[in-house]
Amino acid sequence: MVAKVAVVTGGNKGIGLAIVRALCKQFQGDVYLTARDVGRGQEAVASLASEGLKTTFHQLDINSLDSISSAVAHFKDKYGGVDILINNAGIAFKGADPTPFAVQAEVTLKTNFFATRDMLTHFMPLVKPGGRVVNVSSFVGSHALSQCSPALQQRFRSEDITEDELVGLMQRFVEEAGKGQHKEGGWADTAYGMSKTGLTTLSMILARRLSKERPNDGILLNACCPGWVRTDMAGPKAPKSPDEGAETPVYLALLPAGAAEPHGKFVSEKEVQPW
Ligand code: NAP
Repeated sequence: MVAKVAVVTGGNKGIGLAIVRALCKQFQGDVYLTARDVGRGQEAVASLASEGLKTTFHQLDINSLDSISSAVAHFKDKYGGVDILINNAGIAFKGADPTPFAVQAEVTLKTNFFATRDMLTHFMPLVKPGGRVVNVSSFVGSHALSQCSPALQQRFRSEDITEDELVGLMQRFVEEAGKGQHKEGGWADTAYGMSKTGLTTLSMILARRLSKERPNDGILLNACCPGWVRTDMAGPKAPKSPDEGAETPVYLALLPAGAAEPHGKFVSEKEVQPW
């Protein structure tokens, strides 16, 4: 029988590394630590080995379609698909970063929304019956949504928003930010926040599609917030350790066989949150 397999993006440090660590301890199957940089990824695999934990490395830069395609081919060939996919990789400019907002918007959306969407586009067909997909989003996305115009809020929260419409909205945000007009356009003044608003909304759209197109496969797909976690991204003042930040993503990845929910939700502290 083919082994079960879990794949984590951005696994070389921070919350991603902690997710890999927890899966090594709790998941009955092969756990893949993926990272865009081979050296950093292999170092992380070695550090887990020194804790007595076995994980396998695969290069995966979510900003590269070639890299995504090679990974897809690997998991298809070796496992016939994937059982768990955790889209954890993400970026954020620091608050004090002088990079113009226009650039921050383009670069942040590129990784957190468009590249994560590319991952989902290419990996979703591989997700096996009973599979679990977890997108690591953020409460910052929920807060950003509440700062958008009522018209935008209505679209992001609607049950009938399509993936194409969402992609168009995210492109519009980048374009308007590029012209310094995003506030007039009704957007929140945060590139990271808007990228995560998009990711949470995309998760809801894809979950609805799964329910419609693969109703008997029992796949559960959710977005989550790990909380405020001490990592290179969030800094040393955050209250949670990376291992604590991994708890909700890992809970969603290991929802027991036969569970019907949560699905298509935004989850924090293992609880479904309003959207
Ligand atoms: P982190 O320590 O900065 O780690 C980010 C990880 O993502 C790194 O492994 C990084 O790889 C990887 N990454 C970035 N771009 C990538 C790409 N194109 N392809 C593959 N991997 C890429 O941040 P973190 O705090 O652990 O964040 C993990 C996730 O949690 C992110 O999605 C973040 O938005 C979310 N989050 C974090 C917090 C928090 O308080 N920390 C709160 C809410 C949500 P490199 O090492 O190569 O750069």
